[in-house]
Amino acid sequence: AKKEGRGTYRFFEVAMSEEVRERRMIEHDLRLAIEKGEMAIAYQPQTRIGTQEITGFEALLRWNHPVRGDMSPAVFIPIAEESGIILRIGEWVLREACREASSWDRPLKIAVNVSALQVNNPTFVTLVQAILDESGLAPERLELEITESVLIRDPERALQTLTQLKAIGVSIAMDDFGTGYSSLSNLRNFPFDKIKIDRSFVRAIDVNIQAAAIVRAVLGLGRGLGLPVIAEGVETNGELAFLNAEGCREAQGYLFGQPAPIEMFRSVTHAEAVA
Ligand code: C2E
Ligand code: CA
Ligand code: CA
Ligand code: CA
Repeated sequence: AKKEGRGTYRFFEVAMSEEVRERRMIEHDLRLAIEKGEMAIAYQPQTRIGTQEITGFEALLRWNHPVRGDMSPAVFIPIAEESGIILRIGEWVLREACREASSWDRPLKIAVNVSALQVNNPTFVTLVQAILDESGLAPERLELEITESVLIRDPERALQTLTQLKAIGVSIAMDDFGTGYSSLSNLRNFPFDKIKIDRSFVRAIDVNIQAAAIVRAVLGLGRGLGLPVIAEGVETNGELAFLNAEGCREAQGYLFGQPAPIEMFRSVTHAEAVA
């Protein structure tokens, strides 16, 4: 029995070290990914329910790894965050997205995800201002999507940062709403401009009465607080009909468009040539 136990322990140790090695490899490759041109941004439309007009795009990072191929941000973003590499990668995304949006004929919004480490970095507001200046993008067109993890470590500092960002004209959306653990007080204590309902609730609307109830409650909350609500991950007409009936005015999801290179949306971002 003793022998077996030790064998099991050793196997576990090997498995662990393999996982650690894997992370180190990804971390190593991440450091070079931007210079090697392996990173790209996919844009996903945000649509006004009712008129179906596109109001803006969310920038979503894509990494084409030389050996592994396309790697999900759900895999590499956490590694970039833990290693601090997200500071450089996040800056690159912000700069690229703002530059791209500034080239459009239409003043559509550009929503960019930013990590806790970025927002809590003392130079973040200065960086955002510099990127706005160099791109010439109107600050009102930039929306930063942040999760509640931004607010946890140093709430006072986070409040100061968000207040400064609002002062320069940038808007702030609370991302992944409903998946955190103190959303309600955060909505009251921090200057959010928008609530983004997480996909996990939206996708279950038509099969799960609890999810439908939560979505309905969030929409009511938004109305009560005077905050617009956008639903993420809308895939079916049934989900859309429910959202519309419950007063949701904006949506994003495969039903309207998958994240894609911006060229795919040229008829949206650029006005038709006038004859
Ligand atoms: P998120 O911010 O919640 O982004 C929404 C995710 O849902 C995206 O996954 C998007 O492609 C996916 N999605 C949108 N509509 C649908 C739909 O109708 N059905 C389904 N099944 N999925 C849908 P993605 O692109 O894999 O990104 C995953 C996460 O990685 C994001 O979640 C965000 O947290 C993070 N991320 C992506 N880009 C960046 C970035 O530039 N910076 C940071 N800090 N995080 C990023
Ligand atoms: Ca997001
Ligand atoms: Ca989400
Ligand atoms: Ca569904």
